[in-house]
This record gives sequence, C-alpha cells and structure tokens, in this order.
Amino acid sequence: MATRHDGRRALVIGSGFGGLAAAVRLAARGWRVTVLERRDGPGGRANAFQQDGFTFDAGPTVITCPHLLEELWALAGQRLADHVELRPVEPLYRMRFPDGATFDYHTDREQMRESVRRLSPGDETGFDSLCERVERMYEAGIGPLMSAPVPGLLSLAPFTAALVRDEAFRTMYGLVSRHVRDERLRQALSFHPLLIGGSPFTPASAVYASIQFVERRWGAFFPVGGTGALVRGLVALLEKLGGEVRYGSEVTEITLEGRRATGVRLGDGTWLAADAVVSNADAAWTYRYLLPGHARRHWTDARIQKARYSMSVFLWYFGTRKQYPAVAHHTLLFGKDFRGMFSGLEGQGQPSQEPLLYLHRPTATDAALAPPGHDAFYVLAPVPHLGDGTDWRVRAEPFRRALEERLAGSVLPGLSEELATSRVFTPADFRDDLRSFRGAAFSFAPTLMQTTFLRAQAQSEDVERLYMVGAGTHPGAGLPAVLCSAKIVDTVIARA
Ligand SMILES: Cc1cc2nc3c(=O)[nH]c(=O)nc-3n(C[C@H](O)[C@H](O)[C@H](O)COP(=O)(O)OP(=O)(O)OC[C@H]3O[C@@H](n4cnc5c(N)ncnc54)[C@H](O)[C@@H]3O)c2cc1C
Repeated sequence: MATRHDGRRALVIGSGFGGLAAAVRLAARGWRVTVLERRDGPGGRANAFQQDGFTFDAGPTVITCPHLLEELWALAGQRLADHVELRPVEPLYRMRFPDGATFDYHTDREQMRESVRRLSPGDETGFDSLCERVERMYEAGIGPLMSAPVPGLLSLAPFTAALVRDEAFRTMYGLVSRHVRDERLRQALSFHPLLIGGSPFTPASAVYASIQFVERRWGAFFPVGGTGALVRGLVALLEKLGGEVRYGSEVTEITLEGRRATGVRLGDGTWLAADAVVSNADAAWTYRYLLPGHARRHWTDARIQKARYSMSVFLWYFGTRKQYPAVAHHTLLFGKDFRGMFSGLEGQGQPSQEPLLYLHRPTATDAALAPPGHDAFYVLAPVPHLGDGTDWRVRAEPFRRALEERLAGSVLPGLSEELATSRVFTPADFRDDLRSFRGAAFSFAPTLMQTTFLRAQAQSEDVERLYMVGAGTHPGAGLPAVLCSAKIVDTVIARA
C-alpha cells in the first residue's frame, strides 16, 4: 500500500530502530521519506550479520513493549504478526551467582514469585510490594512521560507527584533493597539500568524499575529469524509506504539557511534538499560533526565535551560445533563485586576483573540461526567508553580470551575445542562503525542531569526543521525508548 505523497520531503540520517520508526510514521503521514544509512545494511546497533553459516544479531535481543512495534504496522493497515513472529522467552533470564546459585527470572509474576521463594524464602512479600510500587510508578509517571515531548522543566509537572510518591528519585538498588533482603535477589531485581548503559547506584535510577513492569505487562520476546527479521520487516514496511533506504550513504553535513535545515550533504558531495531532516545518528556526533559550531548555541563543543557518556560494551560473537541445550536463551553471569563493577565502569576505581556478563544463545529459541547441530552465541561484557584511553587493537584479543576462559569454566565446558566461528566488536568499533561519540554503547549516560528536558530534544534546540530521534534523545536508550522517541518526533513535526 503506497501512501499518497503530499510533496514534503523528509531525510532521515541513519536506519537504527529510531530512524526507521520515524521514517515509517512520516511516510504514513504522506511525507516522501528517504533514509540515508552509511553502513551497507539497516539496523544500526541492531544490525545482523552472517558468518560461516551462522546468523548473528549484533545488538538487541530482548524485545519488550511489542505494542510499540504493532502501532507502526497498524499505520499501514497491517499486522506485525503477519510479517514477523515474536516468540515469548521464558524464563527471560537464567541468572548465575558466584556462590553457584541459579535464579530463573520470569516475566510471569507467579512463576517469578516461586523463583524468589526458592532463592530466598520470606522475600516473596517484599517482591509483591515492589511489583505494586513499580506498577504505580509506570502507570502514573514513566509510561506517559516516555511518549511526551518534554522541552522544559514545566512539561514535567504532570508527572512529578507520581514520581516523588513512588520514590523514583532513589537509586534502583536502594529501592529494591527496601523490599527484599537477600543480596543476590537485590542484584537480580536491580541490574536493569545496565540494559541501557546505566548503574543501579546512581540517583533516580529507580525509574528503570519500570522495565520490570513492562516485561510483566507485555512480555519479552525474540523474533523468529532474529532481531534482524524485525529490522528487515520495518524496512519492507517503509517501502510499502513509498519510502526508501539508501545504504553506503554517509551524511557529512546538515546544510543550513540561517537557522533552518535545508538538506544534507553526502560524503561524495551530493546535496539532497529536504523540508525536514531527522537525525538518528548519535546525538552528540550529529551536533559535533554534522553542524558548524556557529549554528550551535545550545549544543556547543564545550557542552558536548562535558556531557557524560554511557559505558561501552565488548561483544564476542561465536558459534560452536556442538549444542549446549542446558544453556538458556539469556544467561546473566554475576561477578563477585556488583557495586564495584559499576564504579569501575564510570572511571572511578579499577575496571572489574569479573564483570556481570550477558550470554545470548538465540538457537535456544530459533535453531535455524546456526547450521544443524551447532549453536550461535554472543557474550556481552560492559566496559568503560573510550575516555579511559584503552587501545582496543591491543586489548581485544586478551579480553576475548579471558571471556572464553570464564565461559569454559562455567556454562560452556570444552568451549575452546568447539569454536567454529568468532568475531569481536569493541568500543572502538562503536566509534568507527556506528559513529558513536567516545564509543559509548548507549549514547549519553542515563543520569538524572541528562534525562527528560536535559537530554537532546526531538525538536533541535539549535536548528529549525532539524529533529532528533534515537538513544541520545528523550526518553533514552533501549528499543521501547527509541520507538517512543520516534513517536515524539512525529508529534513535534505534526505540530510544526
Ligand atoms: C550490544 C547491545 C545490546 C542491546 N540489547 C538490547 C535489548 O536486548 N533490548 C533493547 O530494547 N535494547 C537493547 N539495546 C539498546 C538498543 O539496541 C539501542 O538503544 C537502539 O538500538 C538504538 O537505536 P537508535 O535509533 O538510537 O539507532 P542506532 O542503532 O544507534 O543507529 C544509528 C544509525 O545511524 C547510522 N549513522 C550514524 N552516522 C551516520 C551518518 N553520518 N550518515 C548516515 N548514517 C549514519 C549508523 O550507521 C546507524 O545505523 C542494546 C544495545 C547494545 C549496544
């Protein structure tokens, strides 16, 4: 179903989830939309690649808030389920602690309550009261706030009472600790800010407890064919609406007439005119490198320099010649020093020798992602961003080997003999391949001073007809958040 175009042209820089969602929304409104992507395929952090018969998703693997995706298909009168199958993943995580205990983390509240009882009898009541608090926090505060433009302090007013009442300004670890006693359970229920590059020990990180609520409310899924299937589905949806994605098209400049964006210039010198430019490239990168300094009264070089950037991650993708059926789809391997790991990541103290690891085994849900009898994996280790001066050309292989040893000594015995394929992605790749400022994996750090109106806004603070979408903007990183940021861009453009 191609939409009737109304003559207005939008250029979207970048084909991450935020860029594609914004493109779909604008195309559905009748804009002629072109997405310009510097890589040779779509998805940004959510790109997928094939290697030696294995299919790897490079980034996101836990799909929550499917309704935000369904909305996009509905704009074209279609159903997501007719194009991509989302399979529920239960347990969502199998957690392993250094004392050998395991904990199955469920999205189903009753099953989760049973896991809590098994790990720490007596903590079920505290778990219940935490669930209730988090639900209130989401319904009255975080949920509506995620899809609302918040250009200034006043726009926060409708949400403040609920956030204060439910103690959203606490640290997440502090909030959880008021409800449950067992230290392992505290970690299991408070690691969530890590999913978007934050720490459960920073003020106001309690807002990210709402991640637990959305997991319970709408479930957690993995797409058949991998997250890449979802990205391909979005590109096909955009094309049906008459939009297009051009690959190998790096934008080097957003062109201006006075304070107004007029189009973009590509690396090969081509100039493309637009009535609106939407940047899904990293927000700090967009302001620092795609706009001249004289056009930036708000996003000055000094502000960009001083901003705090999220941690990065080290990723090792690998395939094995045998299968490990006892390994769940998502495993979290906790280290010995939960608190110390976060301070190390923020540049205070030494980086942890035993960080919390996330191990992804997509073949647990979709065996077709590896050759028969094989398993596909990736392991993710949080590491500081490039501000710590690490030379990843030197550090990558020793770091990977340490991961291999830790996995072989825990959940993947005999791993070294079974390796069939291997590739790493380091903070330097976040900078060079994804154009992410300081190689941060999640853009600006999710701190109190960089949330809502203090994060990059959908309507650029500096340039008219320039709009920002993606992890660096309000409400932040993670697929639900970047899908909401696309919704906000749509609202703001419709009002303009
Ligand atoms: C390893 C990892 C695992 C994650 N796991 C999850 C998960 O399980 N669930 C979840 O919800 N979230 C997860 N996240 C977070 C989530 O993936 C991101 O927040 C989200 O994908 C970011 O989307 P975005 O719209 O900001 O665009 P990005 O993915 O950052 O894409 C930006 C795009 O812009 C392109 N670009 C940049 N500069 C230019 C230019 N000058 N010209 C043209 N193109 C350009 C880039 O090539 C890229 O394709 C994970 C993140 C990482 C890194």
